[in-house]
Amino acid sequence: MLGDQSDREVQNAAMYCHETDHYVFHCDEGGKAAQDIEHIASVQEASYQHITAILGLSMNEKIHYYLYDSREALGKECERRFGEYAPNNGCAVSENEILAVYNETIQCIGAHEDTHILMFTLGYPESRFLEEGVAMAMDALWWGIDNNAWTSYYRNNDLCPSVSELIAMTREEFYTVQDKIAYPLAGSFVSYLLMRFERAQFYEFYMAKDYEAAARGVLGVSLTEIEQEFFRFIDLLSYDKVLLDRIAELFRE
Ligand SMILES: [Zn+2]
Repeated sequence: MLGDQSDREVQNAAMYCHETDHYVFHCDEGGKAAQDIEHIASVQEASYQHITAILGLSMNEKIHYYLYDSREALGKECERRFGEYAPNNGCAVSENEILAVYNETIQCIGAHEDTHILMFTLGYPESRFLEEGVAMAMDALWWGIDNNAWTSYYRNNDLCPSVSELIAMTREEFYTVQDKIAYPLAGSFVSYLLMRFERAQFYEFYMAKDYEAAARGVLGVSLTEIEQEFFRFIDLLSYDKVLLDRIAELFRE
């Protein structure tokens, strides 16, 4: 819409820009993001190199990264774009645009949203669990602790849901699972798939309409078998007690 376009131009004109090889950053002049823009740019460029090396994907155009000083300010931008006020820490909102909060306490930078953008070049999968799993695999950590350590903790405390059920969930169903369980588990599982199968096999499975048929046809195992294999691997991991105690503490918060 013409109105949206001119709004965007006005807003962009008010924002400070910094450009690197693969990004255009937008933020308020004088804010914390503007102060730290060199650091933010180097983190994102390094994240981009990591994601493209592991996933073998790249962008034909630069990624626009819009940095906001609060969840509320980001929420207002979502409202302006989509008609719904949705405060959050960060989101990929188009094929080359990311909105992210950057202030003293929340610094939503790193590989996660950029992975979503790069994966959009393949298309949009049915499974939110797999979609978040790739982004979490590239993050490697949840709250500063390895995804596999969280999965191991959930396995050992009867908190771990079935992976095949999570894969089959609709987007709405996926969001009913606690994020501190669903996200690290998704990252842990997708990391396992990327280690276990060829990248092309994984992508065919990722974009499948019928995951059970794709597991058997493309990966050569049933969903139940791959889940069992994955959990056998996780159950081999023996983490330091101090780390497990810290996970328990974070989980209770
Ligand atoms: Zn995500």
